[in-house]
Amino acid sequence: MTSALTKPTAVLRDGKSLVAAGLIDQGARAEADAVARRYAVAVTPAVQVLIDPTDPADPIARQFLPSSAELKDQPDEDADPIGDDAFSPVKGIVHRYPDRVLLKLVHTCPVYCRYCFRRERVGQGEAPLSTAEIQRALDYVRARPDIWEVILTGGDPFVLSSRRLRNTITALDRIDHLGVVRIHTRVPIADPDRIDDDLVAALSADKAVYVVIHCNHAHELSTPAVAAIRRIVDAGIPVLAQSVLLKGVNDDAASLEALFRALVRARVKPYYLHHPDRAPGTTHFRPSLATGRTIVDGLQGRLSGLCQPTYVLDIPGGHGKVPVAIERAAEAGDGAYVLRDRNGHLHDYRDNVDNGS
Ligand SMILES: *Cc1c(COP(=O)(O)O)cnc(C)c1O
Ligand code: SF4
Repeated sequence: MTSALTKPTAVLRDGKSLVAAGLIDQGARAEADAVARRYAVAVTPAVQVLIDPTDPADPIARQFLPSSAELKDQPDEDADPIGDDAFSPVKGIVHRYPDRVLLKLVHTCPVYCRYCFRRERVGQGEAPLSTAEIQRALDYVRARPDIWEVILTGGDPFVLSSRRLRNTITALDRIDHLGVVRIHTRVPIADPDRIDDDLVAALSADKAVYVVIHCNHAHELSTPAVAAIRRIVDAGIPVLAQSVLLKGVNDDAASLEALFRALVRARVKPYYLHHPDRAPGTTHFRPSLATGRTIVDGLQGRLSGLCQPTYVLDIPGGHGKVPVAIERAAEAGDGAYVLRDRNGHLHDYRDNVDNGS
């Protein structure tokens, strides 16, 4: 018997365990299992306690509990929606921009987000990179002085043991031409106790190490999550956040305002707000770009600059990210501009006469 008062201890991965935990009804079990056969499902204890099962619109449930809507693919959706495969010169590396590469060490995550843009790859049983494969990926970086930043992503790099993480960070720290090692993770929210002293010590390097957490709703910033973030920040590691604009989770100004304020209070700088990618079976999560632009535009002036991420979209086909917020400056020719203030009023602006060309 489970009751609301029992502290959960298991990661839930199928319909049966989700029913037993009281997170879905018996009637939804078959559908949850059908989704779990196609895409990985994992709901950690830390996430389970954030879900209010009596709220049919719970923003945490919507992100992590499987739904039959995921089984409906649309013709414009793609297993590799941002074209990573075409930019992978060696296993584990994605090299799209001249100065930075992704290094994907693992293909598992502590939780599986239902809208994940890599859902056809993560949680599908692919093995982590072997020691030899990691060496080849590091050799690729070593041989290219133009690479300034390595971004550990995946999968979630913090599912690795602290020892393996430390080995990788140490190897990267020894590459002279690198300036930054960046780590993308959902662990501080999905499994905050994993951010222990050993893990934080493994991140210590002479290079700048940045941690970017993935967080979409203020409810995710629980007391343990905020404490986990604090352990990272206290070690001198800047923490940023990336969020995804998701229908039914955060697609309104009030939810985004609460999210970004909560992040900044937790010492986290909102970095990107992503328009969702066209991953298979995720239509129900994608607002129109017009809706997204209107919501984001409404945050200007209403929120501190510290709370404003850049709203970006990854152009399908591997053409990279572009900012997509509504422009507030329009060129009017000959060094003249029209600027729109936060109240919607228009103002002329003119360059210095000698700035012409
Ligand atoms: C998003 C992404 C990056 C990081 O881009 P930033 O704008 O620096 O955050 C790097 N490489 C690839 C392939 C990406 O998709
Ligand atoms: S943590 Fe990232 S990679 Fe993992 S399931 Fe969520 S969106 Fe996908």
